Amino acid sequence: MGLSKKQRDLLQRLPGIDFILENAKDEPFFANIPKSVLVRSARSVVEDLRTDILNDDKEITDENPDLSLLLEKVKGSVKNIMQLNLKRTINATGIIVHTNLGRSLLPADAVENLSEIAGRYSNLEFDLSKGIRGSRYSAVEDILCEISGAEAAMVVNNNAAAVLLCLETIAKEKKVIVSRGELVEIGGSFRIPDVMAKSGGILKEVGTTNRTHLRDYEKAVDGDTCLLLKVHKSNYSIVGFTADVSLKELVELGGKYRIPVMEDLGSGTFIDFSKYGLFKEPTVQESVSTGADVVTFSGDKLLGGPQAGIIVGKRNIVDQIKQNPLTRALRIDKLTLAALESTIRLYRDPEKAIENIPTLRMLTLPIESIEKKGKILLDMLKKLKNSNMSIKLFKLSSRAGGGSLPLLELPSICVGIKINGMSVNAVEKHMRENTPPIIGRIEEDYFIMDLRTIQNDELSIVENALVGLGMMPKKAS
Ligand SMILES: *Cc1c(COP(=O)(O)O)cnc(C)c1O
Repeated sequence: MGLSKKQRDLLQRLPGIDFILENAKDEPFFANIPKSVLVRSARSVVEDLRTDILNDDKEITDENPDLSLLLEKVKGSVKNIMQLNLKRTINATGIIVHTNLGRSLLPADAVENLSEIAGRYSNLEFDLSKGIRGSRYSAVEDILCEISGAEAAMVVNNNAAAVLLCLETIAKEKKVIVSRGELVEIGGSFRIPDVMAKSGGILKEVGTTNRTHLRDYEKAVDGDTCLLLKVHKSNYSIVGFTADVSLKELVELGGKYRIPVMEDLGSGTFIDFSKYGLFKEPTVQESVSTGADVVTFSGDKLLGGPQAGIIVGKRNIVDQIKQNPLTRALRIDKLTLAALESTIRLYRDPEKAIENIPTLRMLTLPIESIEKKGKILLDMLKKLKNSNMSIKLFKLSSRAGGGSLPLLELPSICVGIKINGMSVNAVEKHMRENTPPIIGRIEEDYFIMDLRTIQNDELSIVENALVGLGMMPKKAS
């Protein structure tokens, strides 16, 4: 592609990085900016100019790039680079355990304990009663056994790691029987057949997608079978002409042939939500009391704690799992452990758990409370007297998210806004680029914010983000 004379001239006159650095010296703004950031910003600004020239951008004129304009651009880039990349975000999506937005919010107790442990030494692997080296699992093992009723417990980095570790320990080079209706794929790349392959276990699929019977499992049992695996259908549901084998039946079959039974619960919960008129999910306690030898579940889905993979079960199997050298690679860190211990302790009193664990509180939030929050926000926004803004309350539904309860729709209240003279996509972008970012959704031509997942103390942030929107001339960015 040939360049025009104008383009060649402009390219030749592009400022050098040194020229920018030299001129930046005189500006107080740059005084405390690390050199690496300044150089990176100057490079990216010059690179953008070069691209504009090569693309023959309409806005490029024959004149030299103005120095003060150039420095403004460098400032903008510096500001961007100096911001943290991982940012606190407002979840206005109504998806409670939103995988892209950090899944569960920690309870206050957990945050407090986490920050205490983070900045101090701790007895992470030190037995204070004996004065010798201890196990990092002991921080949560008793409380997990107390709440779940299991004989033994351990924790790893996440539930995907827990499943991998269990299979690698129990099933390496042996057969594991799984129903075809339970070969799940969780978002990302967690797929039961792939995890099985990585663990060295040999997957023996039985039954059909919609119907699997006990006799299918029994027919598949042979001398190489080392495990019966049940996987929670976390993010999908099979309806219609279906048949499933219960954990109880699998435990009986396992007993008959002396084969252990493992259940991957996925979400895992210690609370029977049906008692709150919500939904029926198998609880960890039920899996344990039904006789599963190993149960695995996540720390940060319905449990509402930090990212972790929890393994509870029979002592002999959990002990074998603890001996597996892979645990060193999958181990939980001390910050997670601190947050997990505090979160799980809250389950000693289920009422308290629901009140204090944000995920549970949002799941069980009565519609009246959401409506109240909606009216408060509506009033706040009306007081902005932005004649360009239409505001409306919508009755829509929230979701549990996190690949759990796919069919559950929780009735909710949303505030929708529309700005005269602005596309709904531009409004969405404006909110997403706010500090802190506000993530909602678009329905019809409204930007929709679900009040269930917006915390009470975040309403004013939403309000501030909307002050004067569409009223002022658009700032050049
Ligand atoms: C979510 C899920 C996993 C993976 O758990 P992470 O904590 O996300 O690693 C594994 N199995 C099932 C059934 C799940 O639902």
